[in-house]
Amino acid sequence: MSQDLSGIEKNQELKNDDKIREFWIKNICNNAKFKTKEIYDFIIVGAGTAGCVLARELIHGIPNINILVLEAGGPNTYSNGLINLPCASFKAFHISENDWGYVTEEQRVQSSVNPTKEILRMGNPYVRGKVWGGSSSLNTMVYMQVSQTKEYNEWAAQGPEYKIWDWDHCLEAFKAVENNSRKNSDENFKKFHGFDGLLHVQDSQNGIYDVMSGLIDAAKNLGIPYNDDFNGERQNGVGIFQFTIKDGKRCSLADSYLKDALKKVELYPDSKDDGFGKVAAVDVRSFAHVLDIIWDEENKNENVAIGVRYFCNGVVREAFIAPKGEVILCGGAINSPQILMLSGIGPKENLESNNIKVRKELPVGKSLLDHPSCCIVAKSTPNAINHWSNGAEVGIFHKANIEGKIPCKDDFFDENPDIQIHAFPYLPDFIDPSIKLYNNKYDKFDGIILLIVLNVPSSVGYLELKSNNPFDQPKMCSNYFEKSDDLYRMISSLKLCREIFKQPPLSTVYNVKEIGINDEFGKWCTNGDDMSDEDWEKFILTKACIKFLFTLLPSFSFHASGTVKMAPESKEGVVNHRLQVYGTKNLRVVDTSIFPYIPSGNTNAPAAMVAWRASRLIIEDYMVETS
Ligand SMILES: Cc1cc2nc3c(=O)[nH]c(=O)nc-3n(C[C@H](O)[C@H](O)[C@H](O)COP(=O)(O)OP(=O)(O)OC[C@H]3O[C@@H](n4cnc5c(N)ncnc54)[C@H](O)[C@@H]3O)c2cc1C
Repeated sequence: MSQDLSGIEKNQELKNDDKIREFWIKNICNNAKFKTKEIYDFIIVGAGTAGCVLARELIHGIPNINILVLEAGGPNTYSNGLINLPCASFKAFHISENDWGYVTEEQRVQSSVNPTKEILRMGNPYVRGKVWGGSSSLNTMVYMQVSQTKEYNEWAAQGPEYKIWDWDHCLEAFKAVENNSRKNSDENFKKFHGFDGLLHVQDSQNGIYDVMSGLIDAAKNLGIPYNDDFNGERQNGVGIFQFTIKDGKRCSLADSYLKDALKKVELYPDSKDDGFGKVAAVDVRSFAHVLDIIWDEENKNENVAIGVRYFCNGVVREAFIAPKGEVILCGGAINSPQILMLSGIGPKENLESNNIKVRKELPVGKSLLDHPSCCIVAKSTPNAINHWSNGAEVGIFHKANIEGKIPCKDDFFDENPDIQIHAFPYLPDFIDPSIKLYNNKYDKFDGIILLIVLNVPSSVGYLELKSNNPFDQPKMCSNYFEKSDDLYRMISSLKLCREIFKQPPLSTVYNVKEIGINDEFGKWCTNGDDMSDEDWEKFILTKACIKFLFTLLPSFSFHASGTVKMAPESKEGVVNHRLQVYGTKNLRVVDTSIFPYIPSGNTNAPAAMVAWRASRLIIEDYMVETS
């Protein structure tokens, strides 16, 4: 190793990705000498939503095992307490040491409205948790399990063996994870919710912002029905979300599941021939960046995973799995596919162009799914900060009009809504200090933001490697609004939001006035209703986030999924129904990347659900091997 290593080992700057990248190129990739041999029954890569649930369920589900969890970030209490505070959830996005710092590609695309023109789809920062709890430590804490049963039944419809993913099985897992504290819940509520899991879910404490009550009334004035449980019998309507919050603090999966997993430490004195016994426990290693999978070179054709290589404290280490053990990737929908590709599993062309030997050709990264979004802002009477609230208190689910018209009453009652609107009070100082710059120059105002999310998008993006350097971010092409129906449905909902702003009591009591969206940078003014479809397209693809909020609310929801799809191999699948990677042994992927279709709602609970279901499959397989 070059002379730089000792310096780096002591160097606190190690957590800085640029430094690590530079260090990797100069030293480690050609000169990995520092190895230690570690052996565990299971190696889990990533202590995010899925990794935390999996670690806990496995340590409690299988006797006498130990688990190594490798996490690229630090403990969720390490940097500061801010990420635990609901009202600071927007600030949490901007704490760079807890975020991977990804950015999507800028894409020049053909206009859907006027095909003779090209339009620039902006690249945006793409937040991903790099901390214990992963993205559940940075997210907005809205609890959605998505009760559109048909969606999970579509997962199950991929073949008889996929029945283990039908709605009944998924609901069992959702309920097992959830600990809902709603008081006086009726039988119908109990049908859809769990009360004994570790993930705390609660109603908004101490009421909601006044302007949010006004929003509910304004929506009702337009004929949108009230819904007191978006995770219940029906999803449509206006109502108040439930949140993954406990006692006024964020309840991430690290706070709930990982913490509980760490409590179990047992000694099995007779379990080793040498008489030293074995400690059955979960060992979490922080700031441990997994580089790739170690394969059994003696069984080259079988692609048997035997461990992983990871970078920690300036040293490349190797960790191995014991017989019957498994490597389980829980790195999330951007990093799990990256690790697979760096290990030779992926599309031949992309791997070979990055000098990676192909072990198994699979469509890794070929479908990158997310919920594109767009926001619209209005000024209002002043709001006060509510420290117990994440801001996103109120939601509206409705069906959009595919021609871009304002939805009609029937659309509000449609059982399969495809739009989810999140309403936030807009408090510049509370949301993001960078906005001060903007507001110092222009007007400072309190207001209301409606973030419109396309929950059932047709457009599909992709992800591929830019290089074989594990510290380089993969190329992320979102392809948002590539399909014109996505664009028109977004236009339809934006028009509905403008109508909501005009309704009393928003327009009367709260003095809500939409902020101009058709104007140039910084000129705040209200528009007429005269926006053409071309104006809307430009707004949606290029202006919405950057001009209003300085990248605060980009044009997606950070619900990346689908990059390691669970499907038959003949249908672009990368993992089978038991989440095992095709053409390999001892290797599974368990996180949102396996979603065959994106659920029509937020993805934290679905990620936890997948991990809980996966734990049952892994336990079953382990027991079969043992018997
Ligand atoms: C800003 C934001 C807001 C959101 N809001 C909501 C919301 O309100 N409600 C909701 O339901 N969902 C929300 N989501 C989505 C939800 O949080 C995620 O879908 C979910 O947490 C993903 O879980 P996961 O296990 O797939 O990945 P993650 O939770 O992202 O976990 C992946 C983990 O793996 C680690 N890792 C990755 N690569 C490596 C490596 N090479 N070596 C070691 N470790 C590695 C990461 O650091 C991370 O800890 C939001 C997401 C974000 C980012």
